[in-house]
Amino acid sequence: MSTHEQFTDELPLLAMGTLEGDDRQALETHLQECAGCRLELESLRGDMALLSLSTAGPKPPRRSRERLMAAVAREPRGAVAAKRSSFPRSSPRRSWWMLAPSLVAAALVVVVVLLGNRNSALRQQIAGMQSDAAAQQVELRRAREIVSTLTASDAMRVTLVAAKTPPQPQGKAIYVRDRSSLIFIASNMPAAPPQKAYELWLIPTSGAPIPAGVFKPDGHGSATVVNPPLPVGVEAKAFAITIEPEAGSTTPTMPIVMVGAGE
Ligand SMILES: [Zn+2]
Repeated sequence: MSTHEQFTDELPLLAMGTLEGDDRQALETHLQECAGCRLELESLRGDMALLSLSTAGPKPPRRSRERLMAAVAREPRGAVAAKRSSFPRSSPRRSWWMLAPSLVAAALVVVVVLLGNRNSALRQQIAGMQSDAAAQQVELRRAREIVSTLTASDAMRVTLVAAKTPPQPQGKAIYVRDRSSLIFIASNMPAAPPQKAYELWLIPTSGAPIPAGVFKPDGHGSATVVNPPLPVGVEAKAFAITIEPEAGSTTPTMPIVMVGAGE
């Protein structure tokens, strides 16, 4: 008849899943008739579960974890067996405590495996961010190309109008309120009078006109204004152009020479 003291040092091995063969069979038979050992086994299994839950992240592959645990547990099993032959059965608890360092080692192995998995998740995340950044670079390059074409001093600017209509002075304002972003392109503009320039005005839905850049057309009558300083989020009712001193004015000088309302 087996007593339950002789199984005490085998319970942790069973909990770790590394007890095999006759030893395992004998212990399992004993467990069926011993509530004390069943309780102890449950508490050991609880410890093991806490151990593997104590780090966040995905679980390591089951196979590799078992292999690692077995490797760690193999050595102390020999030590346990040696102890048994040289110590009386009345002190089996000592050999259970001998296992403590290997449990710590097993815990470290689990942690290392979990961190390894986490590391590869992070690497994937970084790769994702790098491809996002590359996509943004492409987008930025396209945006720069568009702006540099619109504003190039050597660009050929052609305004197409209905046939047989003489070319008219013309301005086009493209305004994005939420970004306070404004691009203005003019064509066929007569030269400004001496010491004078054209000034663009944003006419808000309420309040006074807001200065939106001073410009002088080139020899072909073309001009551009890109992102003049503007207050944030102003709703525009219209844009207008007046003739002002070269430095610009803070309020428009009449008359208005060109005007256009939103489409
Ligand atoms: Zn027992």
